Amino acid sequence: MVAVWPRRLALVVAPAYSESFASWVDRMALRNGCPPRAMVEALGLDVRAASDVRSLAYGVVTTLETCRAIEAATGVSSETVRGMHLEVFDGSVLDLAGVRVGDEESVRRAEGREWVRFFGSRVCPTCLAASGGVWLTWWKLSWAAVCPEHRTLLVDLCPRCRVAVRRGPAGQPARLSRSRMPAPLRCGALLSGAVCDQPIPQIRTSVASHELADQQQLVLEVATRRRPALIAGQVVNAGQWFAVLKATALLARLGVPEVLPLLDAPPNSQDALAAEAGGQRWNRAGPVGRFGMAPRTALVAAGLLATASKVAAAEEESELVARLMPLATAARMRWKERRPDLSTPMALPPVFTAALDAVSPSAGRRRGAARRRGRSVPTGRMRRCGRARWS
Ligand SMILES: [Zn+2]
Ligand SMILES: [Zn+2]
Repeated sequence: MVAVWPRRLALVVAPAYSESFASWVDRMALRNGCPPRAMVEALGLDVRAASDVRSLAYGVVTTLETCRAIEAATGVSSETVRGMHLEVFDGSVLDLAGVRVGDEESVRRAEGREWVRFFGSRVCPTCLAASGGVWLTWWKLSWAAVCPEHRTLLVDLCPRCRVAVRRGPAGQPARLSRSRMPAPLRCGALLSGAVCDQPIPQIRTSVASHELADQQQLVLEVATRRRPALIAGQVVNAGQWFAVLKATALLARLGVPEVLPLLDAPPNSQDALAAEAGGQRWNRAGPVGRFGMAPRTALVAAGLLATASKVAAAEEESELVARLMPLATAARMRWKERRPDLSTPMALPPVFTAALDAVSPSAGRRRGAARRRGRSVPTGRMRRCGRARWS
């Protein structure tokens, strides 16, 4: 509860287009000459009840009350404040249902499940330099691979300290500092007391193809619902469109390394996918965590983006089946009957599950036979239970 609305601040920085909330607060803090923690309090966020960024769901979701308090303090509209949070992607590229301010566990659960870094970010050094330190919200998405404007791969790691950009100490989200001023153009990683001062605009990046830049642009437009989502010529909702991308990424990963020469991904992304598969151990989430986990680097994201975009770009059903076929074949070759039991619930559109049935005929036949016998759906390789599942 915000009992008393904050005073109107004299110095306000206008949010930049697509800027993340944390980035705006940092720039506000610099303008007002106070550390981020004091800035957040001045904006009217209730930092007493939820002291760290995770329980504040900082930059992830917000409340109407907080938006109104910030509007009162800054004159920036509630709608704009909300638009700086990751919740702008809820229902399209992210599922943030159940994430609540003050409920740290709800934040943690979504953090483990969704393809996003709540408290970290990739970055385009050129965009950051040009804007004087504006961090964009979409750089936090795990599908963020390249900058469509500069056609370069986004940066994950600081070359000086080898720590993920914007990651807090020891993998924990950085606290809202009570004493340190933000430095939006520097790495800023905390390393045993010292702060890494690598200038981010000086980090070199590699060039991406026009095609990949266009695929990234499409992802952003569907994510923000500026463009209708189509699968095999049929209009689907944005959530279904991203479910198709994720399911395709999962299928492609199942077929590594056999699938690599068949992928439309750039060669260095193929290497990154192979390295990812080689370096992965079965984690706590089991096989789903292994194949369905968020790509950790922009290079892996680029490989999955290129592959999944090709599938999503199929204009009709037969083309969709043709594009899925090599992926399914490679996955079958790799796993034969040992295929791990994957059961990631995904809201796949019927046109895509039908294509999956077509490329996995044995599972399709078993399911068809079961339906004829009036039984419930058996455990096939790909199984549908209301919502589509893979198994
Ligand atoms: Zn850029
Ligand atoms: Zn660094």
